[in-house]
Amino acid sequence: MQIESKSPLVMKLDVKRLYIPGTVITDACPTCGVEKRVDLGNYPLSFPNINVPSDIYFYCGACDEADRRPYEWTRQILIRFSIEEVQVTDPPA
Ligand SMILES: [Zn+2]
Repeated sequence: MQIESKSPLVMKLDVKRLYIPGTVITDACPTCGVEKRVDLGNYPLSFPNINVPSDIYFYCGACDEADRRPYEWTRQILIRFSIEEVQVTDPPA
């Protein structure tokens, strides 16, 4: 069997809400340094593309309430995708 694919593979998922349970993105607030978390199991990505950066939005309520700026910022992640042969007798781990 042979699999051919463009590299890097870029494609649209056409998924309005992509939840990724078990994946948590953490980043320090650029203003106060407190670590903030975005749990992709609860906060889905909207129409993400494969091998195209997706924005992750962070919010620091403490800085917002104290009128310190910035209290919102973004980071970017890349969703990779691969295709491989799997033997019927050898299920994915
Ligand atoms: Zn902050």
